[in-house]
Amino acid sequence: MAKVFLRAGKERSALRRHPWLFEDAVGRLEGRARPGDTVEVLAHGGKPLGRAAWSPEARIRARVWSFDPAETIDDAFFKRRVALAVARRQAMPELAEQEGLRLIHAESDGLPGVIADRYGETVVVQLNSAGAEKWRGAIVTALVRATGCARVYERSDSESRAQEGLAPITGWVHGEPPDGPVVVGENGLRLAVDFAGGHKTGFYLDQRDNRRLLRELAAGQRVLNCFCYTGGFSLQALAGGAEHVLSIDSSGPALEQARANLILNPALPAERAEWLQADVFEALREFRAAGRAFGLIVLDPPKFAPSAAHAEQAARAYLDINLLAYRLLVPGGLLMTYSCSGGMGTERFQKIVANAALDAGRDARILRRLQAAADHPIGLAYPEGEYLKGLLVLAD
Ligand code: SAH
Repeated sequence: MAKVFLRAGKERSALRRHPWLFEDAVGRLEGRARPGDTVEVLAHGGKPLGRAAWSPEARIRARVWSFDPAETIDDAFFKRRVALAVARRQAMPELAEQEGLRLIHAESDGLPGVIADRYGETVVVQLNSAGAEKWRGAIVTALVRATGCARVYERSDSESRAQEGLAPITGWVHGEPPDGPVVVGENGLRLAVDFAGGHKTGFYLDQRDNRRLLRELAAGQRVLNCFCYTGGFSLQALAGGAEHVLSIDSSGPALEQARANLILNPALPAERAEWLQADVFEALREFRAAGRAFGLIVLDPPKFAPSAAHAEQAARAYLDINLLAYRLLVPGGLLMTYSCSGGMGTERFQKIVANAALDAGRDARILRRLQAAADHPIGLAYPEGEYLKGLLVLAD
């Protein structure tokens, strides 16, 4: 096994058990290592710190599998870690009963670069790092064993994978394709998941709890759901008794899926739903000009700041849509606003939402802080795991 020595003064992060070793922290490599190979990580002075996956092309030069320098990284290691991640979810009743569930949340479940989402009998796996790629077989086998699921689809076509110098890979890696569309239940509704063509692994499981909260707030409201994707929030608002739900997305296929999801739930009042294919920034300006108003607005935009480097540009975009939303909100209206950008911190986001209120001339207060559901844990040693943050704001 090759040895990687950290640079003097650059060991702090690893000593705090953060799993990423950046290129500027990595000093000498003793021996040879190919992408994904396991390397021994040592402090500058030679003290063993753990074992990591080597990724020579990425800025994150290595991702630590284990901070136990004696732990062997082999098939059994993945069997243990995958089983542990699955067992953690089974131990929580609110998660154990979900048909749509994140089983492995990468770094925060001790498996850097590995995402696995379960949709009924189908597991969708995403391998985002050289190390995860190397252990594909062991990870898939362990997932099948731990879940008993019939099939596993690989959806390894993310941006972060490209940064590791890995080509995209998609397709079935275990079992036979299902006969028809994969449909999962969520908070009493049914939603089809396009794991092959949709975003991420097909669905935004992270918003499950927040969609339930919206349902509780929606009774009698005129709701505006911006960036609706396949209609998760929209359908919950209808189920909660909203008077009208207007949903906007720029993606035609997402809206098509949203309409299909509404049909999958015949108990919902379809006549109260309106879908609009548009750019949210433009549509909100037009609504303002037309004097439209809403009692409850959801803003769940895509990642404006994939990394800290995009933070400035992203901040302007967040300020813009939040300002536009306040201007469409009736007095006493609710704004449910999110950022899923890793490069946008919680405090910064709150400041932007506050500045938008100020610019709109609205007095407002936070009723709740919102985050991803519990199947998307945040490793305490890995604050980057807190990518999704939201606020429920009541504006006078
Ligand atoms: N709230 C959704 C997830 C939103 S993902 C859920 O709970 O499932 C972000 C969505 O924003 C995507 O569907 C994408 O198509 C859409 N989008 C991105 N930029 C947009 C823009 N400028 N205007 C409208 N929609 C946009």
